Amino acid sequence: MQPSAARLQVVGFGPAALGIPIAADRAGSLDALMRDGCVFLDRRGRNEWRSLDYDICSNSAAGDFLAGLAPDGRLRAALRSPEGRALQVDPDQPVALRLAARFLARTAREVADYTVRFDRAHTLFGTAVDHLRHDADGLFHSCDTRGRTLALSRSAVIAVGARPRAGDDGGPWFTTSEAVLRRERDAQCARAVGAGTPIRVLGGSHSAFSTVGLLLREWGDGLRPGQIRVEARSEILVYRPGRRAASAGGPSGAGVATVDPETEPLHRFSGLRGESKTVYRAVVHGTEPRVRLLRHSEEADPATPPLTIAATGYRARRLPVLDASGRPLFPPGEAAVDANGRVLDGGGRPIPGLFGIGLGHCSPLSPTSGDGGYPMAAVNVFHGRTASRIVAQL
Ligand SMILES: Cc1cc2nc3c(=O)[nH]c(=O)nc-3n(C[C@H](O)[C@H](O)[C@H](O)COP(=O)(O)OP(=O)(O)OC[C@H]3O[C@@H](n4cnc5c(N)ncnc54)[C@H](O)[C@@H]3O)c2cc1C
Repeated sequence: MQPSAARLQVVGFGPAALGIPIAADRAGSLDALMRDGCVFLDRRGRNEWRSLDYDICSNSAAGDFLAGLAPDGRLRAALRSPEGRALQVDPDQPVALRLAARFLARTAREVADYTVRFDRAHTLFGTAVDHLRHDADGLFHSCDTRGRTLALSRSAVIAVGARPRAGDDGGPWFTTSEAVLRRERDAQCARAVGAGTPIRVLGGSHSAFSTVGLLLREWGDGLRPGQIRVEARSEILVYRPGRRAASAGGPSGAGVATVDPETEPLHRFSGLRGESKTVYRAVVHGTEPRVRLLRHSEEADPATPPLTIAATGYRARRLPVLDASGRPLFPPGEAAVDANGRVLDGGGRPIPGLFGIGLGHCSPLSPTSGDGGYPMAAVNVFHGRTASRIVAQL
C-alpha cells in the first residue's frame, strides 16, 4: 500500500530551504505544517554543512542572516545561540561569512531537532534525490537513481542550490573561486605566488574581487607588481546604498536598474561591496600595483602557464522533474520560477504544487531585479518574501 502523502517535501536543506520553516514559524503555522507531514531531504550528512563556508566577508549585513527568524517563534533558540548573538553585535555591518555559515548550520539543527517531535515530519540526511516524479494524481515522489520513492507529498519545493559554472578539472593550473574561497587550493596559490607565476582571475563579480582580496591577504607579501590579472569582460558594478547599483565606469547609475522597487527593502545588495569593493577601488585608482585589471583575455605564455581562477558565476544544480510517463516537465537546466516561487513548465505555466527557492532559479518575470543572472540571491530574501509567498500557497 502506498504511504499517505505528506503535505510538503523540500529537496535540499541548505540556507534557502530553511526559509520554509522560518516563514511558517513567522506565520504561526509551523506546527500545523509539521503535523500534516513535512520532509526535508539532503544528500549531505547531518554534520556536513558546506553552504557559505567561504573564508571571506559576507556581502550582506550580519543582521540579514537573522532577519527572517521570529524572535518569539519555535526556532528562537537559533537567535540565542552563540553564533546568533555574535551576528547581533554589529547587525548593519558585513561579517565573516564562516560565522554566518555556522549560524545557518545551527538553525538547520534547530529545524531538524524540531521535526523529531512530530510523527509525520522528518529530516533525511545522506539522501540524494535523483529526480522528482509528478504523478497523474498530483502527488510528488522524490526518487533515487533506481526510481524508488524516498518521500511522497502533495507539494514540493526544489532548493538544491547551484554549482560553479566552470568545472574544476582543467589541470593543475586551473581552479575555481569556489575552491579558493573554501581554502581548498592554498598549496596551488602559494606555489604560484612563490614562483612568480601570473595569476588570472576570470570575472568581475563579488566572487572575483573576494578571491583577489583573499590572495592579497594570505600571500600578498610575496606577490609581484601585476602578478594578479583580473579579466572582466562584462561591466563591473559597484554597490551604492539607494535605489540603484551604479555602473563603475559610467555615469552614476545610468541605465543600470538592478533593484526591483518592489523588493528594495529586502534586496539591499547588488554589485561589489565591502572588502571586494575596497579591493576594486584600490586597483582602479592605482594604489594596488600587484593587481591589474584587463578588459580582454590575455594570450597565455606557453612557457609559464598562469594559474587561472574562474569566478564566472554559478549554474543551477539539475533536478529533473518528470511526469507520470517519465517525460521532463521543463527542459534540463535552470528551473524558472514566477514571482510567487512557482516552478514553470516548458510552456511557462506554473506546475501545481511545485515551488523553487534559492540560488540557481531564474525568474523570467523580473529580469531587472537580478544580480549576475540570479535574481535576489540573498539569504534575507529567501527567508523573507520568497519563503512567505510559498508558505502562503501550501
Ligand atoms: C561566494 C559567495 C558568497 C555569497 N555571499 C552571500 C552573502 O554574503 N549573503 C547572502 O545572503 N548570500 C550570499 N551568497 C548567495 C547565497 O545565499 C548562497 O549561495 C547560499 O548558499 C544559497 O543557498 P541555497 O540553499 O540556495 O544553496 P546551497 O547552499 O548550495 O544548498 C543546497 C543544498 O541542497 C543539497 N542538494 C543539492 N542537490 C541535492 C540532491 N540532488 N538531493 C538532495 N540534496 C541536494 C546540497 O547538499 C545543499 O545542502 C553567496 C554566494 C556565493 C557563491
